[in-house]
Amino acid sequence: MIGLYVHIPFCDAKCPYCDFYSIKAKTDKKEKYVQAVLNEMKMCGGNKLANTLYFGGGTPTLLEPIQLEKIVKCAVETYGLSYENEITVESNPNTLTDRKLFDLKKIGINRLSIGVQSGIEAELKALGRKHSLDQVEKAIKSAKREGFDNISVDMIIGAPGQTIKTIFETLDFVESLDVQHCSFYQLKIEPKTPFGLNKPNNIASEDEIAEIYLTVVSQLEKIGFYQYEISNFAKTSRECVHNLKYWNQEEYIGFGPSAHSFVNGVRYFHDRNIDGYIDDVIKVEKEKVLDANFEWIMLRSRLTKGVSVSELEKRGFWNDDLILKIKKLEGAKYIEWKDDRISLTPAGMMVQNAILLNLFR
Ligand code: SF4
Repeated sequence: MIGLYVHIPFCDAKCPYCDFYSIKAKTDKKEKYVQAVLNEMKMCGGNKLANTLYFGGGTPTLLEPIQLEKIVKCAVETYGLSYENEITVESNPNTLTDRKLFDLKKIGINRLSIGVQSGIEAELKALGRKHSLDQVEKAIKSAKREGFDNISVDMIIGAPGQTIKTIFETLDFVESLDVQHCSFYQLKIEPKTPFGLNKPNNIASEDEIAEIYLTVVSQLEKIGFYQYEISNFAKTSRECVHNLKYWNQEEYIGFGPSAHSFVNGVRYFHDRNIDGYIDDVIKVEKEKVLDANFEWIMLRSRLTKGVSVSELEKRGFWNDDLILKIKKLEGAKYIEWKDDRISLTPAGMMVQNAILLNLFR
């Protein structure tokens, strides 16, 4: 079973740190865009069945529910998606009115991923976000009233002004929301963004960020969120089924500008250009998978379940030199080796790249 990703490249305004592909939403363009996505979905369909659908962005909830519904229906008709499968929509709190939530539930959306980012008003402002904490609380309460029982919140580590003290307040806020899943992504300063051109001077140092990350991991565990991936935490059985496909190197098709696909061992991607996409939805670029085994270890080591010794053997990684290095890193508490499984500890996850280069290159 494959995963379906649909990129909705519309936002009300651009956040100063964001490098995702999105443009200001215009009504006529939205309709043309939905038609283009439907065309591509039908063109690529036929021989693959899907069991997840994920609307990412951008801000997918800037589309009308009827437009999202057309895409959901197309996924059901063309890829055999069931309404019982995970159907996620990313959203901003200020787009989630009672009416919108009612309609989203009605068209089959059963998982909400909400961009909350911080539990501190001043940090939201520094991130250029347009919502308030009050709006977050109202949106989540309303979503629960409409019957959503699978809600995730996206948070940021390294927001301007964030400290160990404020991350505790943010974690309290997350706890108070009583949701099933949360993601804590480290802010990456991308060169061509306003933050890249003019970096805020109150972003925590690398050491402080490491301390904040380890605090997040340990505090979330105390309130019932277990870590299953570097940045992702879930209550029991509430992991994101769609995102797990990426880390398990399963197949997925991405529709829309900037979306990536991985099918039959080959990666494809669309340009970051909505007009080009509307003109010619099948224009995709192929991306070479340079070293499939190394890519596998890069993705799988993001998961707390790690990899098994037999999988490493099967892929030709297992040898005396590797065992020695693993034992050394185990001693330094970067790696955990339990029975047949080898995984990174939270401290190891923070330096994942360096560890993998040391072990496998
Ligand atoms: S709302 Fe999300 S996708 Fe849109 S600009 Fe802000 S961070 Fe980027």
